[in-house]
Amino acid sequence: MNILEVPAVSLPMEADELRRQVRDFLTNELQAGRIESNCDCWLSGFSADFSKRLGDMGWIGMTWPAEYGGHERSSLERYTVIEELLAFGAPVAGHWIADRQSGPLLLKYGTEEQKRHFLPRIAKGECFFCIGLSEPNAGSDLAAIQTRATKTKGGWILNGSKIWTSGAHFSHYMIALCRTDDLDTQNRHAGMSQMIVDLSSDGVTIRPILLMTGEHHFNEVFFDDVFIPDNRLIGLEGEGWVQSMAELAYERSGPERFLSTYPLLNELTNFLLEKEEHEGLLVISRLTARLWSLRNLSIGIADQLDKDVPSDISAALVKDMGTQFEQEIADLAREYTSVIPSVQSSDRLSRLLAESILQSPGFTLRGGTTEILRGIIAKGVFKA
Ligand SMILES: Cc1cc2nc3c(=O)[nH]c(=O)nc-3n(C[C@H](O)[C@H](O)[C@H](O)COP(=O)(O)OP(=O)(O)OC[C@H]3O[C@@H](n4cnc5c(N)ncnc54)[C@H](O)[C@@H]3O)c2cc1C
Repeated sequence: MNILEVPAVSLPMEADELRRQVRDFLTNELQAGRIESNCDCWLSGFSADFSKRLGDMGWIGMTWPAEYGGHERSSLERYTVIEELLAFGAPVAGHWIADRQSGPLLLKYGTEEQKRHFLPRIAKGECFFCIGLSEPNAGSDLAAIQTRATKTKGGWILNGSKIWTSGAHFSHYMIALCRTDDLDTQNRHAGMSQMIVDLSSDGVTIRPILLMTGEHHFNEVFFDDVFIPDNRLIGLEGEGWVQSMAELAYERSGPERFLSTYPLLNELTNFLLEKEEHEGLLVISRLTARLWSLRNLSIGIADQLDKDVPSDISAALVKDMGTQFEQEIADLAREYTSVIPSVQSSDRLSRLLAESILQSPGFTLRGGTTEILRGIIAKGVFKA
């Protein structure tokens, strides 16, 4: 099959009942005052208690084997659950990375001991991970990382730093990509490894980088002679690049790449309906058609990933088109309402609009910038 072909996949019948359960659960949570709905909830909405309650419902680690605390549901059932959580704007940031990519990475490359130690705790919503890729001089050009793990008796000594690390301040562990061998200028992707760093270890310093709102989502993380035991190396020494790239298809193809501002889209639609603002509603209809295409592509990739079909190029396509889509929703809301955006406002439209405006510049940067994704897509099209 052509690498750019993604099959049209329908969600199974069981998904309808599951969707109803998730909606009922979220309605109860909201009515009990335990959660609120926010834009960009998968990166900005943190509630350790909520993550725990989702774990109790069996909605984290849904597709993993039962022996590792998973629930052996299909990836399409998982898709249904995360789609509902995102559309609502539920505070899922705590467990998001662990559920989306750290857990699947450990399932694929981890040792038996790592799987038994980490996966059940992730599935219970009690163990959070963050992504340690970017460094001050290595973002798009990730092969330029300089964080270095040097072999010592029984493990490794880690030195260096990571930057823009979302959620490091509430995470228990980071999966860090580091150099375990000197840079080979002929093969820059060689000599890297992935390690699980316990963020409570001696020598780890986490420093906040505040957003322009004053909120704290991401961080700089410094490693100063941090000891990493041998059993925290993931997969094979020197294979870190290949393993990290495999993670990116999970990271780029999910519905979070086009639903970050969905709560605003919903609120805006109600507002325009009430005002009978036909021009705005016409634009919403066009956006809805695009949303439907993105969703079909994303569901098709979820199915492909389940079958271990390489999907990095189509995933880049979802991320590129999806993040622009979610940015446009914020622009449209500014154009068709005279509401003054304020994160403190008790008016829901005003608050969601402010959150979207403040968060949306990062949508096309995080997880790979638009320019980089288009390079990947162009090379894929050329080779296909
Ligand atoms: C909200 C947010 C959360 C993030 N969370 C994390 C996280 O949890 N963990 C983590 O590791 N990182 C995280 N990042 C970092 C993110 O992955 C990087 O910002 C991104 O990869 C870009 O790297 P950079 O910032 O160093 O920009 P640069 O790589 O310096 O790029 C600057 C500009 O140059 C362009 N450019 C660079 N190279 C090329 C090229 N070859 N061709 C064309 N254009 C090019 C880029 O597209 C961009 O517009 C986060 C970023 C944001 C905004």
